[in-house]
Amino acid sequence: MSHIKLFIPGPIEVSEKTFRAMCTPMIGHRGSEFKKLYGDIQPRLKTLFGTQRPVFLSTSSAWGVMEGAIRNLTIKKVLNGMCGAFSDKWFDVSKRCGKDAEALQVEWGQSIEPEMVRAKLSEGGFDTFTLIHNETSCGVRNPLPEIAAVLREFPDVLFIVDCVSSFSTQSIAMDELGIDVLLTGSQKALALPPGLALFAVSERAMKRAESIKDRGYYFDFVEFAKNQEQDMTPSTPAISLIYALQSKLDDIFTEGVDARHSRHAALNAQVHEWVSARGFEFFAPEGRRSLSLTCVKNNLDIDIASWIKRLREKHSFVIDGGYGKLKGKTFRISNMGDESSESIATLLAALDDTLE
Ligand SMILES: *Cc1c(COP(=O)(O)O)cnc(C)c1O
Repeated sequence: MSHIKLFIPGPIEVSEKTFRAMCTPMIGHRGSEFKKLYGDIQPRLKTLFGTQRPVFLSTSSAWGVMEGAIRNLTIKKVLNGMCGAFSDKWFDVSKRCGKDAEALQVEWGQSIEPEMVRAKLSEGGFDTFTLIHNETSCGVRNPLPEIAAVLREFPDVLFIVDCVSSFSTQSIAMDELGIDVLLTGSQKALALPPGLALFAVSERAMKRAESIKDRGYYFDFVEFAKNQEQDMTPSTPAISLIYALQSKLDDIFTEGVDARHSRHAALNAQVHEWVSARGFEFFAPEGRRSLSLTCVKNNLDIDIASWIKRLREKHSFVIDGGYGKLKGKTFRISNMGDESSESIATLLAALDDTLE
């Protein structure tokens, strides 16, 4: 089978080492071997989350926990920060959960700014706020520490943060910033196959969850906490993916967390340099651009779809041709996962070779 290498912003290329880890013989999920596996990854996950709280593993994609956070924490009204496809969808999901929800919407490609959050929360009535740190659909990176500072002015509002495409590519200090739920998924920045979501919940958010009636079962935070005490998950987890995660944590801590962050920043800069040198523009404003992917404006009016087709046929690489309504108007290049300056240079050369 030919190997098409993905440079789309998720799922991304998975290493052979990771796939091999998934082939570890199966174990029971209530036995000592599983508890050992679960316990083994906790300290490193806590380090990456910047928290003293336990890190829960959900056998679902990120959306399971994104929906779960709403069901576990919103009683009065949720404010959804919206600046792209995923964050817009979270508003829709909140309403589908039967919650009172309000939109804090900016145009796709623009960022959520701290003063907007302050102005909206000052109107009162909210008890939860959702933010996507790195809006993957349009390459916007929202100013998380500055927004977190605003949230600390509103102690009744729980702060729910999706860092699906930024987790482990830069430092996100959950406890220090006062984040109440920090969640991510396996198939983006962690370079694992899809199917696992990871999240941590603050103590006060856990108290709120305990006071809510209709949390359901599968994403009930209280169930996760109860099982966590025994190094277990509420239902049968994707054990193979947890072996893959353990292997990936070995990779991350062998490289060093700081070195990993620097590598992602450097690779991102390498893509940015190419973008500017070719006369393309960025979709997001300076200072608000993602470090793990690049969303490029099609200001040169090229035929993106046929370019991507040539790239795939000739070089077996795939980049993304624009998300949803941005199809054809933007393209996106991921620098997440295990990429190196050599592998990014190879991709950029292939982009040049196929760009007409
Ligand atoms: C991909 C993505 C999601 C959704 O993840 P699923 O794995 O499809 O549930 C949510 N948020 C962000 C920022 C993403 O990039």
